Amino acid sequence: MRPPRKKTPEQLARGNIVEKIRYIKKREEIRVKAVIHRATHPGEDTKRTRRWRTENPLAAAALRALERARKRNATGRYTAREFRALCDESSWQCSYCATVLDIVTVQADHIIPLSRGGSNGIENIAVSCASCNCRKHNTPLPLWLSRTGRTAFGPNLLSNIQSSQ
Ligand SMILES: [Zn+2]
Repeated sequence: MRPPRKKTPEQLARGNIVEKIRYIKKREEIRVKAVIHRATHPGEDTKRTRRWRTENPLAAAALRALERARKRNATGRYTAREFRALCDESSWQCSYCATVLDIVTVQADHIIPLSRGGSNGIENIAVSCASCNCRKHNTPLPLWLSRTGRTAFGPNLLSNIQSSQ
């Protein structure tokens, strides 16, 4: 059998582009199918989705935050990895009451609330417990701190307190 003819660099490059286009088309096709499926099956939360959510609580929360941010046309998109790094940096303690949290109980607080034009980027996120996050809600941080007599600590907070005053 004859060995296959060696391809010129131009042919190789063209081959790569063809492959890439094929890949993008396929990816688009899958995406469109998924959109149609979701549109025609409203409210259906597949077993796989539910399992993914339970297994990846940080990523699921980041996704929910992104949805809320999009509705408010907020910029920024923090990732689960960034949030986990922030939690590590904060020793998994609530930035407002120092409660020790875990992957299930931790929440991402938007320091400047999305409803007040805050970004969804990691620089606007603080590690929070559910209670503080819920109580703070959309109160500007300096006001909430002065009302509750608390001090905020942890990464992102000092610069944000200063910039929002
Ligand atoms: Zn707290």
